[in-house]
Amino acid sequence: MTLLGDRESRLLIDGKLVAGSGGTFPTVNPATEEVLGVAADATTDDMSSAIGAARRAFDETDWSTNVELRVRCIRQLQQAMRDHVEELRELTIAEVGAPVMLTSMAQLEGPIEDLSFCADTAESYEWTTDLGVAKPMGIKTHRTVVREAVGVVGAITPWNFPHQINLAKLGPALAAGNTVVLKPAPDTPWCAAVLGELIVEHTDFPPGVVNIVTSSDHGVGALLSTDPRVDMVSFTGSTNTGRAVMADGAATLKKVFLELGGKSAFLVLDDADLAGACSMAAFTASMHAGQGCAITTRLVVPRERYDEAVQAAAGTMAGLKAGDPTNAGTVCGPVISARQRDRIQEYLDSAIAEGGTFACGGGSPADRDKGFFIDPTVIAGLDNSARVAREEIFGPVLTVIAHDGDDDAVRIANDSPFGLSGTVFSADDERAAGVAARMRVGTVNVNGGVWYSADVPFGGYKQSGIGREMGIAGFEEYLETKAIATAAK
Ligand code: NAD
Repeated sequence: MTLLGDRESRLLIDGKLVAGSGGTFPTVNPATEEVLGVAADATTDDMSSAIGAARRAFDETDWSTNVELRVRCIRQLQQAMRDHVEELRELTIAEVGAPVMLTSMAQLEGPIEDLSFCADTAESYEWTTDLGVAKPMGIKTHRTVVREAVGVVGAITPWNFPHQINLAKLGPALAAGNTVVLKPAPDTPWCAAVLGELIVEHTDFPPGVVNIVTSSDHGVGALLSTDPRVDMVSFTGSTNTGRAVMADGAATLKKVFLELGGKSAFLVLDDADLAGACSMAAFTASMHAGQGCAITTRLVVPRERYDEAVQAAAGTMAGLKAGDPTNAGTVCGPVISARQRDRIQEYLDSAIAEGGTFACGGGSPADRDKGFFIDPTVIAGLDNSARVAREEIFGPVLTVIAHDGDDDAVRIANDSPFGLSGTVFSADDERAAGVAARMRVGTVNVNGGVWYSADVPFGGYKQSGIGREMGIAGFEEYLETKAIATAAK
């Protein structure tokens, strides 16, 4: 690999790759437990420097008004990522534990290509709208509405789909004219730090426009929520941390954009192909070891066919044993850390304690003595009040719940503090659409449709978040609105 050739990553602050004042911290391959190398460990002083650089770049350069420069820089970054895609693939599999098959999709190539949407949107966007002349309060006035960048954006991201989430923040925030400080999760520092290398070596981004600050200390990220020089925090992560970000941002009334956790439901109506639907639910819940916020982890099936549904899901999941992410056939790789594996195991134990059973899986595979693995698991025998049905597990775990008809299925889907995503399967498209319309969630898959796309807004209702990422709605999260009223002759 030429990227990170010395196996030590740097911070990007004010256009320069620099060491962290806190030394370094290791980044670990979750499939092997091997230390891949080290990342720069930033302190709050480093973070303060990065915020200062972003502030100056916003206030003192023409970045926020120079659309042509922004589009050029974003396309250069995209091209640099394309040119290094095989190295990035190797890095992503090693650091994230992402199955190789997902790197041609949302784990790597998808988000690289989605940068086109951000650049294209900046080029075609109607930055100024002419509302014409009117006579409000009797005064002849020409009204214009201008959309412009919010300012300095603090982007805080998790480890599960690092490229997807880092780029879904950097792309629109930069295209809209903001400057950014990106603070990735301590578990995947290299996936963010390589962007710093590529930006310095292959793009014209002016110093301070993008800053990338890796740290082992969550408190370093918290500075982004409190510092008055930051105008907006764009956060993806757990609901608890999102709550802390919002509370911290309240003191300076920061604009806060939150993409949080989920506990999404997969509804199988009584006329659906039960085996096919349950098999798809099982496959989805196993993908990337269930470490996806929008994964449907509650399989809600007709009560009279409950046992059949459990068998169908378990039949698929038993064939998807947790395995080596470098293997082209692997769907379920490792989970990110020992801490995460132990957390999932605790949830599995709670299911048994509450009277549930495992139709397959139930813990770590016996044949792996290295790496952080949990076998895909189907939990049966519990209802929607069980802990495993209410809380986000973030592991390859599917809980099967019985429903008594469409109204009950909708009730169960909505009986959750979260509202991120959902799925409906029915032989009747109209009936499925009617159920989808009643689900209080940000995205719905009907009979296998795919909502994940650069031009489709993604985000949650209720405690799954505030705002939308991707699509025009995601771009506009990073804009302010200014009305200019000019006295007309
Ligand atoms: P996390 O909340 O522990 O951490 C996310 C980020 O926040 C990390 O960079 C972390 O260092 C930082 N952080 C931690 N404490 C902070 C604080 N007090 N102030 C500011 N920053 C702080 O989440 P995680 O474990 O890295 O990721 C898993 C979670 O992310 C899951 O809950 C998952 O559902 C959620 N997620 C949501 C989406 C979405 O789009 N809705 C997408 C992916 C992941």
